[in-house]
Amino acid sequence: MSNGPIPKKIDPRKMAERGAQISAEVAVSAMPEFCDMLADQDARIQVELDFSIDEQRIRLIQGQATGQVNMICQRCLEPVEITVAATFNLGIAASEEAAKQLPRYYDPVIVEAEELELIPLVQEELILSIPHDAYHEDCSIQTSFGEPETVATESKKPNPFSVLANLKKADTK
Ligand SMILES: [Zn+2]
Repeated sequence: MSNGPIPKKIDPRKMAERGAQISAEVAVSAMPEFCDMLADQDARIQVELDFSIDEQRIRLIQGQATGQVNMICQRCLEPVEITVAATFNLGIAASEEAAKQLPRYYDPVIVEAEELELIPLVQEELILSIPHDAYHEDCSIQTSFGEPETVATESKKPNPFSVLANLKKADTK
């Protein structure tokens, strides 16, 4: 386990057998398709992956990729900082056929040979997790779209943490 740059190629089955972990950084500039969605290429993404085997002997890659990136606000066209948090819940399959046999709660990743290129995999999950259109929360350019309404409905939800806090108080007495 290291915090260095991400390995380019891995043998995910061996890593699953060893119960290996990866904790590494990857520059967004190494992921050109992801970069296309961003305002600049300066950000670094922190990648944490756990390799394991479940009780059905399915080899798994689980974890997350997180970071702060700049996108272009679609209202004012200035950069806006977006937090990305992609999660990995991948089951390794040797073929398309095998991928269909995987339980639905895993996303299949097809690894036909021994090695898997890690950066394209991370890039794909990042692209899936990022919003298509980014906006400043308090963008200085006002529009007539109904966004304030959405905010209002959100705030009506009870805060789950305040409920928990009350339960805890009751518990200690
Ligand atoms: Zn804006």
